[in-house]
Amino acid sequence: MNIHEYQAKEILKSYGVAIQEGIVIDKKEDALTAGAKLREQTGTDWMVVKAQIHAGGRGKGGGVKLAKNDEQLQQVVNDILGMTLVTPQTSAAGKFVSKVLLAQDVYYPGASEPSEYYMSVLLDRNSGKNVIIYTTEGGMDIEQVAHDTPELIHSEFIDPALGLQGFQARKIAFNLGLSGNAFKEMVKFVTSLYNAYIGIDASLFEINPVLKTSDDKIIAVDSKVSLDDNALYRHPAFAALRDEAEEDPTEVEAKKHNLNFIKLDGNVGCMVNGAGLAMATMDIIKLSGGEPANFLDVGGGANAQTVEAGFRIILQDPNVKAILINIFGGIVRCDRVANGVVEAYKSIGEIHVPIIVRLQGTNAEEAKKIIDESGLRVESAIVLQEAADKVKAVLA
Ligand code: GDP
Ligand code: MN
Repeated sequence: MNIHEYQAKEILKSYGVAIQEGIVIDKKEDALTAGAKLREQTGTDWMVVKAQIHAGGRGKGGGVKLAKNDEQLQQVVNDILGMTLVTPQTSAAGKFVSKVLLAQDVYYPGASEPSEYYMSVLLDRNSGKNVIIYTTEGGMDIEQVAHDTPELIHSEFIDPALGLQGFQARKIAFNLGLSGNAFKEMVKFVTSLYNAYIGIDASLFEINPVLKTSDDKIIAVDSKVSLDDNALYRHPAFAALRDEAEEDPTEVEAKKHNLNFIKLDGNVGCMVNGAGLAMATMDIIKLSGGEPANFLDVGGGANAQTVEAGFRIILQDPNVKAILINIFGGIVRCDRVANGVVEAYKSIGEIHVPIIVRLQGTNAEEAKKIIDESGLRVESAIVLQEAADKVKAVLA
């Protein structure tokens, strides 16, 4: 589950990570009162207004702007709140901005120049260890840095039995070229950041930029946090952080029916039991000249209700030109699924796309008979190749 920058910063702060402070608002009328409050809390003069959407690259898209006085603050809030923001990480349609974060300006002048670093924490599946990835070359062009000068990007692997060791935090601060107070601040920053990552069962932290201010403080200016869905049950309070407006509406609907659904951009909808078989089915669709419109695993206990919910969700997608149902009857009996398909079909009414059903396993023959005798526009297949050929014929 992804959360917003302002939510992520609250969590980081609770673990002792220094952050760029701010106040989130969702009404233009609140800009000046929130600004006054932030000024009082932080002593800041200038402020940045930051669009809160689940996508990065906001700066480049015009979703992060500096305001040097109240008049500019109101103007910038008016510009960003309610805009549809397109960034390199959103689709071309962009995302509607319903909240903005007013944040203290942390790039103030002082004894030294502010410096932007990059730091992320994530699980490296190859080594089975968490890794802290970092570089001095933080800021808005990190993708370019990774592409052009990958040698400037460092990785520090953390032994799961030992956790982050003091020498590792010091090594990171050293490699970032820090000394004196900034060095100490960075050691503290990395340590509390890693504690937060472990403490909340995160699956990704990306802090870009981590800023060294002109007076040698180390703070998180941005924060992208993904929580591990499989561990959410350990943090019931995080349920309130979910922003369904940021999620694909069909995925939200699918979750209500306990379906594992991921929306894709293709033209062949698919409904499968088991994630592995779903992957194989998507391969078959591609080999038949189609593109999968979704990933959908209905799970082991597919019944008429789950099949119907799956149908309805797939049919909401106007790109879908055919639906391939591929069920292996191991625990679930194929004839029950076939009855489920027929019932769901009848209950939905008119379905305008051809449906190919491939049922294999327990009672596959009976299932094929049920489909063939239903009188509906549903084609059956037992062998996967047969189903693939039928998809191909339908798309031709
Ligand atoms: P992103 O573009 O979505 O990654 O959003 P960020 O939160 O990283 O902000 C984008 C950029 O805005 C940063 O890289 C900074 O250069 C700039 N920025 C962020 N906060 C401040 C600030 O307090 N003052 C100034 N002057 N610039 C800021
Ligand atoms: Mn950023």
